Amino acid sequence: MKTKVINNDLNDWIDYIFDRTDTDFSELDKYVSKSYEEYAKAKNLKVPNPQKIRAGKIGGHPLESITTDLYLGCLPASSVCYGNCNAAKLSFLSGFDFGIKVENILDKEVFIKDLKNIPSTQGFLTNGWNSDPSWNWEKAFEMAKLIRKSGRLPILMTKVYKFPSEEMMQKFANIKAEIRVSVSAFDKKEQLRQRFDFIHHYRNCGGIAIPMLISTYFKRGNLNRKQDKIVEYISEKDILGAENSLRFDKFSPVSKMVDLDKCRRIESTKDYWCGRIFSEELKVPITTTLPPYYLGMQNPYMSKNEEKFLNSLWYENVYTHEEVIANAELLNNPTIDSDSAKLA
Ligand code: SF4
Repeated sequence: MKTKVINNDLNDWIDYIFDRTDTDFSELDKYVSKSYEEYAKAKNLKVPNPQKIRAGKIGGHPLESITTDLYLGCLPASSVCYGNCNAAKLSFLSGFDFGIKVENILDKEVFIKDLKNIPSTQGFLTNGWNSDPSWNWEKAFEMAKLIRKSGRLPILMTKVYKFPSEEMMQKFANIKAEIRVSVSAFDKKEQLRQRFDFIHHYRNCGGIAIPMLISTYFKRGNLNRKQDKIVEYISEKDILGAENSLRFDKFSPVSKMVDLDKCRRIESTKDYWCGRIFSEELKVPITTTLPPYYLGMQNPYMSKNEEKFLNSLWYENVYTHEEVIANAELLNNPTIDSDSAKLA
C-alpha cells in the first residue's frame, strides 16, 4: 500500500490519497453547479438582516447544544458543499441568497444570559451548523471564550475555508476548544491538504482536532479508494476520527455519483443514507450522538483515549452500514450530526 508515501509527510500522503484519476472533478463540479442552478440564476433573492447570536433552546434553537452561526449564509449556489447543504436549501427556499455572508451580532450580555439559562447538565456547545466559523476565527474565539467561561466545552465545526494564524490556534488550544473538521472524498487536493494541515497544527498546539469524514459509497471505484485512504491516513497518524454518513435527496444531481444500491431511505425525509462504513476506525461520535454532559476527549491522540471512555460517548446508536442494509424498508430517523443536517 504505502509505497507511494515516500517521506511519510502530509504532501506525500496527499499524493498517495489522490491517484491520478482523482484529479478529475468535472463530474462533481457539473452536478454541484446543477444542484441549486435556479437560485444561482435568480435575481430576486433577498439579503437577510443580521441576527443576535443566541445559544440553546432559550435562544430559539432546536437543541440546547447549539448556538447561532457567526454568519447567515456561506457559499454561493454554484458551489454549495456536495450540492447538498440543507442550510443552503432552506435559505434559498425562504428567498434568501445563501452566497452572501451577513455577519451576526455577538451581544455578550445576551449570549451570557442564554448560557446561564441552559441546563447545567449541558456540557458542550457547538457552533457551525448553518455556516462555517472559519470565515471569522477572531469572532469564533470570542464566542468560544464565553462558552468556556460558562464552564462548558466549545466545539467548532468547520471546513477550514480560512486558515487561522498559529497564534490564533494556540489561543483556541489554551481554552481547550474542540475543533471538528469535515473531510470527504469529494474534497479537492488543496482543500484536503489544508484541512489535514490544520488538524496537525492544532494538535501540535495541544488542541483536540477531529476530522469528521462525510462518508458514502460512491459509484466510482477511485472515490471509494480515496475515501479508504483518508481513513488509512487518520488511523496511521493516530488522529481522533468521526464519521457522518452523507444523506442525499433522490433529486440531488450529486446523488448520481453515489451507489444508491448500498443505501436505504430514511423514514422522515426519504433521503438516501448508507450508515456508518468505518465504525472500527472512526470511533468518535458525531456531536448529536454525544451525551449532553460530554466535556471533551481524554487526549488529542486516538490511541491515548481509553476504549471504555470512547464507548461511553455513544449516547445514541448510529446505524452501521450492515445494520442499514439489514433494515430492508425505510429507517426510523437515525441520529444525524447537525453538520450533516446542514449538508452540511
Ligand atoms: S455544508 Fe457547511 S460549509 Fe458547506 S455550504 Fe453548507 S453551511 Fe457552508
